[in-house]
Amino acid sequence: MKKIIVANWKMNHGFNNIDEWLNDLFKDYADKYAEMKNSELVLCPPAIFLDYVDSELMEDGFNFLEKLAQKDGRDLGEFSTEEINEIVVNQRPIKLGAQDCHFAEKGSFTGDISAEMIRDLGCKYVIIGHSERRDAHGESNELLAKKLTAAVRASLTPIFCIGESKETRDAGQHLEFIEKQIMESLSTELEMDNLVIAYEPIWSIGTGTTPTVEQVSEMVEFIKKIIKEKFSNNIKDSAVLYGGSVTSANSGAILKVSNGLLVGKASLDAAEFIKIAHS
Ligand code: PEP
Repeated sequence: MKKIIVANWKMNHGFNNIDEWLNDLFKDYADKYAEMKNSELVLCPPAIFLDYVDSELMEDGFNFLEKLAQKDGRDLGEFSTEEINEIVVNQRPIKLGAQDCHFAEKGSFTGDISAEMIRDLGCKYVIIGHSERRDAHGESNELLAKKLTAAVRASLTPIFCIGESKETRDAGQHLEFIEKQIMESLSTELEMDNLVIAYEPIWSIGTGTTPTVEQVSEMVEFIKKIIKEKFSNNIKDSAVLYGGSVTSANSGAILKVSNGLLVGKASLDAAEFIKIAHS
């Protein structure tokens, strides 16, 4: 199974440094491309930049297609739509994701963005239930259930975030807490081809403190067990990532016990992000 490495820029970066980030990524990516075929890289920039990043990736894909055509002595017109789509979109070196979506398809929701709009911008993923949104926007497990439904309706893969606070962990209630988050947001009625769950303990996000590898492993296995026991009839494929103060210094060990990583601060630097993915 491919490791999924997600860059969550949150509300950072701007037009002045997106190009630099992409250039840095592709520069290092070219060197490491062969070794990195086993990872799926995902970039979640602020929503306002999704269209721009998508068009940059499109351009990059067409340049690659041209080189391929030259190499094979083919005319660009000889490529079928499916082939072009495969090369330019499906084989993109980095996939796009949004940081949130609204649950409705459309309507009077000022400032919100629907899952369909996100899909139409070229995204494959959407983050749902990040602890910063649960906290600052009062997002409940019940609301997140509706957002998960919206993501599936729009054929997006949800990156569903769960994680306990320090108080809950200290009280030894982290397993029950996580189970409740899952059970109140995931439904046995919702058919999903792919679900990504990101275990992100709140006490680790942006703090520089990480759980031990054993603690991450315990949580990843616990989450996998719940999904297998309760949702194996309606969720075809799932992956469990870890997120919280990941850097290139700790990523290798955490990747050994998880299906990937959700990276916040360290993803702002493309070279560091590539180092993490490469680990
Ligand atoms: C996050 O917010 O999803 C996150 C993992 O942040 P950081 O890596 O900065 O702790």
